[in-house]
Amino acid sequence: VTLQDIINLIKEDDVKDLTKKLVNIPSTYSDGEYEICQFLYEELNSLGFSSKIIEVQNNRPNLVSEFSGGSEDFTFMFNGHLDVVPPGNLDLWEHDPYDCFEMDSKLYGRGTTDMKGGLAAMIIAMKALISSNNEFNGTIIFTGVMDEERTGLGAKTIVDSGIQADACVVGEPSNGKVCRAQKGTMWFDINTKGISKHASQITLDDSENAIYKMSKIIPALHELNNTLFQKKHDLVGHSTINIGKIYGGVQENIVPDHCKISIDLRLLPDDNPNQIIDDVVDHLKRSGIDSDDFEINIKHVRESAIIPETELIVSKTCEAIEFVKGTKSQISGMHATTDMSFFTNIAKIPTVILGPGKIEDAHTVNESIDILELYDMTKIYTALLHSLFK
Ligand SMILES: [Zn+2]
Repeated sequence: VTLQDIINLIKEDDVKDLTKKLVNIPSTYSDGEYEICQFLYEELNSLGFSSKIIEVQNNRPNLVSEFSGGSEDFTFMFNGHLDVVPPGNLDLWEHDPYDCFEMDSKLYGRGTTDMKGGLAAMIIAMKALISSNNEFNGTIIFTGVMDEERTGLGAKTIVDSGIQADACVVGEPSNGKVCRAQKGTMWFDINTKGISKHASQITLDDSENAIYKMSKIIPALHELNNTLFQKKHDLVGHSTINIGKIYGGVQENIVPDHCKISIDLRLLPDDNPNQIIDDVVDHLKRSGIDSDDFEINIKHVRESAIIPETELIVSKTCEAIEFVKGTKSQISGMHATTDMSFFTNIAKIPTVILGPGKIEDAHTVNESIDILELYDMTKIYTALLHSLFK
């Protein structure tokens, strides 16, 4: 049986129908991932996988499934997240986000692109390979993880459990490209303090007003984007800083004693988060802001990641794309942050991001995926598995 024979057995309807079923199971952080875990558990076990549903938080499990054959000890991991972001204002959706709808060669619904389409493509590809008569030599691990959209806790739990593989593909939407790098994300707060008093009693130097103090920091941070935009990475572009939230004060006639801004800063591969914070402090100092006037509190870091172009998984994914599409593949980097960093940085598993759809379509109202892209990626995954396990 040749690879082309196996690919010819994959029907567009198979991957479309599975995507629809997965989209129709809501799995935001408030719904939890239990129901979709259970669905995939049954789906994969019917292919001969042995699966475990591992509760990470209440009603919020990971799925770890494994299939082995032959005598080779080569292990490959497919990873995808089970959660989706909430649909937001339902009035803005043209159709029910959880009743996957087909129109103009696209599937519409929450998670079609990010990333239930990717999960469906992985499963149909594994099914195609396993049910072909080719002798299967090695181990495939499928990890479906919870809470990627907020913290990455699911993937972190998986790598903390000691999981190992020789290569991994994270199936996030990569616009047809092989991403061997991704940006990281750091969230931190800047706090300023003042002295609460009657609004009629202010002094002219404003040293008691926490909001006035903050109002000097904000334009300085805005200006920092100019510096960040100049430092460009070949694969992922430049870093950014965004003030996403501001809090402060009690009411009109009280001098505010506290103000806080919450900031998102995107890290480039090889950026050290602590060094970046030192750079922010230096920049504020150079802008004439006294370091005693503010306090920085790092809340959350999801690291950036990069693997060498010479890794096997890079050449194998590129070859699979070229086999299916007949065109040259492109190696790039992901501007968003995914679970890739847990696999590369902690578990040291060479990992790329490759999945159907475009990141621009993720998290949108009327989220959709192009059916042809979904179908092509299913074939690409099949070609990849075939070349890894032949
Ligand atoms: Zn995603």
